[in-house]
Amino acid sequence: MANHDDLTKLPNRRYYKKQVTAILEQTRQGIHRGKVAIMYLDLDRFKLVNDTLGHSNGDLLLKQVADRLKGCLESDEIVARMGGDEFMFLLPDVSDEQHIKQRVEKILDLFRTPFNMNGYEFHITASIGIAIYPNDGWDIETLMVHADTAMYRAKHLGKNQYIVYSSNMRTKSHEKIVMETSLRKALENGELKLFYQPQVDIKTGEIKGVEALIRWQHPVMGLVPPHRFIPLAEETGLIIQLDQWVLRTACQQNKQWQERGLPPMRVGVNLSSQQFSREHLVDTVKEVLEEVGLHPRYLELEITETMTMDVEHTIPTLKGLHDLGVQISIDDFGTGYSSLNYLKKFSIDRLKIDQSFVRDITTDSNDSDIVGTIIAMAHNMGLEVIAEGVEQKDQLRFLQIQKCNEVQGYYFSEPMTAEEMEANFEQLQRHIKDKY
Ligand code: C2E
Ligand code: MG
Ligand code: MG
Repeated sequence: MANHDDLTKLPNRRYYKKQVTAILEQTRQGIHRGKVAIMYLDLDRFKLVNDTLGHSNGDLLLKQVADRLKGCLESDEIVARMGGDEFMFLLPDVSDEQHIKQRVEKILDLFRTPFNMNGYEFHITASIGIAIYPNDGWDIETLMVHADTAMYRAKHLGKNQYIVYSSNMRTKSHEKIVMETSLRKALENGELKLFYQPQVDIKTGEIKGVEALIRWQHPVMGLVPPHRFIPLAEETGLIIQLDQWVLRTACQQNKQWQERGLPPMRVGVNLSSQQFSREHLVDTVKEVLEEVGLHPRYLELEITETMTMDVEHTIPTLKGLHDLGVQISIDDFGTGYSSLNYLKKFSIDRLKIDQSFVRDITTDSNDSDIVGTIIAMAHNMGLEVIAEGVEQKDQLRFLQIQKCNEVQGYYFSEPMTAEEMEANFEQLQRHIKDKY
């Protein structure tokens, strides 16, 4: 048990490192004459499988991958599971690069045949990074880091391929490490800022809510938009801390506005899929609301369609949140896949029509049909609809005719800081009503 991975029965990291250390030592002593190759294999888009098909299917896939990998080993080779969807090969005694090339192509070939998961055929690919002793390092630590770097390079270049390490790759991953460290510090140093964008009642022009949108106020880079750092935060796991910070800060801010006499409104918080799939999400939200003293109806959580695909998790989680009194909306609606059957079973309050549909509603009849249909369908299901990315008066008119409930977009206001919002709230409200 100390040497093997429970799920796949492959050797684990500990065993792998012992073996590599031994082989490197033997090679140094001349017991083996060739070179040694370390291969780092990471499945492409495995997170999507877990997020959409659920963890049990993810596990099933990992087992099947492990079996295939094990099945292709030659005499002295080892494959180990390092954790998650990461596997490592040890190829002792390789004669030359041609030999390595042959072996790695064989491994990538294993992914050509689809995997079978509960009757569904499923394709997945892998990216592989390779480091060779003695060319790319003398000790196991260096070799593993370099194989990892090469693997990221393979991902970066489009996945489903292998890359052999070369020394000029160092800079790239170094950059990433620097970025990760500074993002970590940003959380501690208060460099993260929330901006707020009004959500407006389409009939009355009243501000019904605000969406909290994160920015990174970087001392050198300036104001960094979320798409530049959220993916890194997701990759490194920092997203959990980041999302917690956003949740707490947005709730505190909303409570403060209420205490300072602003009309009570919702604050919308975007959840990452990692945060949404956490076991104790409902408890966490409850704790934050109690601590801050905000009534649950003034918090709205935004999730996306993809996050709802693990139905067994989604139904009770949404029900738990709903029972707390928190509102739920489906963000970027229309860009993912939703089962209408499940949509009915989920405790949700609102659909947010993605801005890509809103952009062309006045010029593209497909988009206007889609928006009209989403609104009608939502209303039939007892859900409200808010349109994102409204920039023009014509778009607003169309949405009014279609009886959309709320709108959000640059036409009324760009996201602004909490201070701006508070100082100018009455003006802002008047400005919005004037734009009708
Ligand atoms: P989203 O939740 O769909 O947010 C709406 C985005 O549309 C925001 O971009 C907003 O500034 C932008 N927007 C608003 N009105 C208009 C308009 O009229 N026209 C156009 N072209 N754009 C408009 P932003 O702030 O850059 O956020 C991008 C995405 O980053 C968000 O998409 C959300 O998925 C993610 N995000 C933002 N804040 C957070 C956060 O606190 N936590 C997490 N996990 N994700 C966040
Ligand atoms: Mg959103
Ligand atoms: Mg959106």
